[in-house]
Amino acid sequence: MANPINDFSPPPRLLLGPGPSMVHPRVLRAMATPLLGHLDPKFLQVMDDVQQMLRNVFRTTNRFTIAVSGTGSAGMEAALVNLIEPGDPVVVGVNGLFGARMAAIVDRCGGKLIRVEAPWGKIIEPQDIRKALSRSGPVKIVALVHAETSTGVSQPLEDIAALCRDHGSLLVVDAVTSLGGLPLNVDHWGIDACYSGTQKCLSCPPGLAPLTMNERALAVIRGRKTPCQSWYLDLSLVADYWTEGKRAYHHTAPISMLYALREALRLVEEEGLAARFARHKLNSAALMAGLASLGLRPFAEEHHRLPTLNCVTLPTHVEDAPVRASLLQEFGIEIGGGLGSLQGKVWRIGLMGESSTRTNVLTLLSALEEIFLRRAWIARAGIALDAASQLYLSPSRGAHTEEPAPTGA
Ligand SMILES: *Cc1c(COP(=O)(O)O)cnc(C)c1O
Repeated sequence: MANPINDFSPPPRLLLGPGPSMVHPRVLRAMATPLLGHLDPKFLQVMDDVQQMLRNVFRTTNRFTIAVSGTGSAGMEAALVNLIEPGDPVVVGVNGLFGARMAAIVDRCGGKLIRVEAPWGKIIEPQDIRKALSRSGPVKIVALVHAETSTGVSQPLEDIAALCRDHGSLLVVDAVTSLGGLPLNVDHWGIDACYSGTQKCLSCPPGLAPLTMNERALAVIRGRKTPCQSWYLDLSLVADYWTEGKRAYHHTAPISMLYALREALRLVEEEGLAARFARHKLNSAALMAGLASLGLRPFAEEHHRLPTLNCVTLPTHVEDAPVRASLLQEFGIEIGGGLGSLQGKVWRIGLMGESSTRTNVLTLLSALEEIFLRRAWIARAGIALDAASQLYLSPSRGAHTEEPAPTGA
């Protein structure tokens, strides 16, 4: 045969971009275990385990807590297309790419889109949501991104959740880059529907979208006058497969992905959420200290910076593409560039799940130092590593980069 396709072995990579993140060998091993049928009682136990552990990580008792087949965007689409019917007024907070994606889906559902905007890098202000709610008459849904991966902004949710209660609106939250990486309390904060993805802070390959909905949200779905526009993501059909006692075939579950998610969630439970959040915060603070010594400043506004996605502004003399190419080709390290109008202006460095380690922070900083030194952008080696090490030695120095203390956690 001419030109046979070769065996593929990927080069070693350190994944420090906006996802996928590094995957633990235990998760990779779980994916390689033999298949079961999707209605096999032994597989149904895997689904039960996944549901139970997802409830723990979402901090919810919602019975309807599942993993949608597909990546994070499938979770976004599932939440929105099931809750929205043509003509429904929907407020969407848009301060980055993923808020804009939510708005695009609302439009396609025929929802009456009310955009509440903030500049990229800033949070959506609760008073702007309040204004939109009092100005617009009854609003069915308010949709917000908890962790804006395009800007590194961490959106406070509790005040807005209370506003939603007062106005009888449902709160839908995108937790793709927060679930398992920073505090998220679905029940306590009053989030009605929340979705995520597997390849970010849960450190599982991409392919499933955890999703949870409370009774208020489910009642809206049950009360629909028109069928959901998507057959594949129609949660009233999907639910029959995830409900104990029913287990009716809808589509074949991605068996190996569910094995992987189960193992990834077991790793989360072994570490414990509090320890996991503290680890993300510390490594982010050390990285930011190191980057600051290289002249790279945080893009997101103070007090609202994600520990999982570190977005930094490049000084004008620092070239984006050549540095990222060197990192990848010479050092095997992937980081993310800017999206949309931020292209060439920022880097997005993910420290999510397995990727958030001291070793990875120091490895990236030393690679950057070497590249910067070669281009004479810095005068001597060691400054970034020094700054990061100082932070690891006395973590309180990084206090200014901390998230606001979560209340009620
Ligand atoms: C990555 C991401 C998504 C989309 O997830 P995919 O897995 O790429 O489909 C949605 N929202 C946010 C905030 C994300 O970071």
